[in-house]
Amino acid sequence: MTVKAAVLVAPGKPPEVWDLPDPVLERGAVLLETVASEVCGTDVHLYHGRLAGVPYPIIPGHVSVGRVLEANGVRTDALGDPLAPGDVVTFYDVHEVCHNCWHCLVARQPNRCPSRKVYGITYSATDGLLGGWAERIYLKPGVRVFRLPEPVSADDVIGGGCGLFTGYAAVERSALAMGDTVLVQGAGPVGLGAAAFSALRGAGLVVVIGAPAPRLELARALGADVAIHLTETSPGQRAGQIMELTGGRGVDVAIEATGNPAAIPEGLDLLRAGGTYVIAGHYTDTGPVELNPHGDINRKHADIRGQWGTDFPHVVRALRMLAKHRERLPFAKVAERRYGLAEAGRALADVEALRVTKALIVP
Ligand SMILES: [Zn+2]
Ligand SMILES: [Zn+2]
Repeated sequence: MTVKAAVLVAPGKPPEVWDLPDPVLERGAVLLETVASEVCGTDVHLYHGRLAGVPYPIIPGHVSVGRVLEANGVRTDALGDPLAPGDVVTFYDVHEVCHNCWHCLVARQPNRCPSRKVYGITYSATDGLLGGWAERIYLKPGVRVFRLPEPVSADDVIGGGCGLFTGYAAVERSALAMGDTVLVQGAGPVGLGAAAFSALRGAGLVVVIGAPAPRLELARALGADVAIHLTETSPGQRAGQIMELTGGRGVDVAIEATGNPAAIPEGLDLLRAGGTYVIAGHYTDTGPVELNPHGDINRKHADIRGQWGTDFPHVVRALRMLAKHRERLPFAKVAERRYGLAEAGRALADVEALRVTKALIVP
């Protein structure tokens, strides 16, 4: 028997549907029947070859939901709960962090561990079914798999996707205090996640700058108090509006989720003195930008932090919040359109052109 998978064979080449062998499970492995996987901005970058060290051909899809088909010697999930065939699960896409290197042991930054692998990004299709754009997903021994908390659905998880977890991580990194004013730059999946969790964490005011209009509607639905259209306003108009909202001081916290270097000076400009700025949107290198170290950083006493990817606790806690506050977090609405494996190329084009906020791959 074979398993169908959508494969990016090389940068710039449209995805191909391959037949791959149905795997035999080693001890400790879990095989999933894919329920849904996501198409995110990273997949568009992978398609264009903008990430370093990607072992093409790859099966994309780093955040996925599946149903357990088979588990070899695995009876509990990563949280210690029973795991059995038929359970609907998700898993932490990062694997093979060594817990033995300098980054893991001394710096305690496992997200910089050189052994770190990511499903759908840094595993090759020749290594197995290690991405979500496939009928089945092979979870190697030690992959952190866990059952979706009730009443979270596959659409909730994939509608939020990796942006849900990155948004959660960015808010946590900002150390946002209750009552703080927050600016989220960008209304893509990371910006939507950041806006939603800022509101849940108790922000006094959440402002989102983004485009196009349907994404601003989603931002409002997820907790933004004010949504400003990026391309229908000038930087001066945006600054005027935000200064008016903050008594002329600027926001306490700004979270960048745009991937556009031009957002950085604007974000610093709108930050109050002593405020915190988290940069979470630059997963690929989009080039430098000019800053004024005196006015933007030193005199401003700005606290600037980067957020690289997510850790397992972000995923678990974000989904726990989604389970508890499902009414306030309609991420299933963000999951706008479903695509089969043969339509993966169209899904990438639709995401890149911002025709959809989150595309689902449903094999
Ligand atoms: Zn390590
Ligand atoms: Zn992603």
